[in-house]
Amino acid sequence: MENKEKILEKIAEEIRECKKCPLWRNRKNAVPGEGNPDTVVMFIGEAPGRFEDLEGRPFVGAAGKLLTELLRNIGLTREEVYITNVVKCRPPGNRDPARDEIDKCSPYLDRQIEVIKPKVIVTLGRHSTLYLLGKTGRKHGKGILSLRGRLYTIHINRNPVTILPTLHPAAALYNPRLKTILEKDFDKLKEILKSISKPKKGLDAFF
Ligand code: SF4
Repeated sequence: MENKEKILEKIAEEIRECKKCPLWRNRKNAVPGEGNPDTVVMFIGEAPGRFEDLEGRPFVGAAGKLLTELLRNIGLTREEVYITNVVKCRPPGNRDPARDEIDKCSPYLDRQIEVIKPKVIVTLGRHSTLYLLGKTGRKHGKGILSLRGRLYTIHINRNPVTILPTLHPAAALYNPRLKTILEKDFDKLKEILKSISKPKKGLDAFF
């Protein structure tokens, strides 16, 4: 069987060639995602911005610096986790991704999740949160502030995956109150990851 890294690279190659939605027309680079294929935790944002488009890598601008800092604060590095977006090409002017663009692009994300098999997915912002919570089969509110910081469960190939929604780091760049909320959610993630490494207690303690 092919290893995870090879399968993820094949998906990345498809993404770089993809013309399924109009966003390919203005991209300098598609941004498939990067990180550790064997990680227990994935971080999923909404779409690449200007710097991500230039470099072909996720979260490399100011919001990316904040994400790196938040990871460091809980003892993680970018190399230990996997970071990607729901939509892999930059929407013009950094506008929100459209419903149709999410519909066309999200099968790539689904395949990445199936390959990586994370135990926890942290959704960064409203778009990735609503997309992943759509897999719970239940109705949820749409406001990220009411959804964040709680745990939800989805099943990927019958395996449970815990979803922890939080804010997009870009929203917290110039807003100390929102940065505090993000830090609180990352502290929660730290506790969840600890519980995973101590199977006796397990994730049940958080629900
Ligand atoms: S955003 Fe996704 S679906 Fe659209 S062209 Fe890029 S890779 Fe393809």
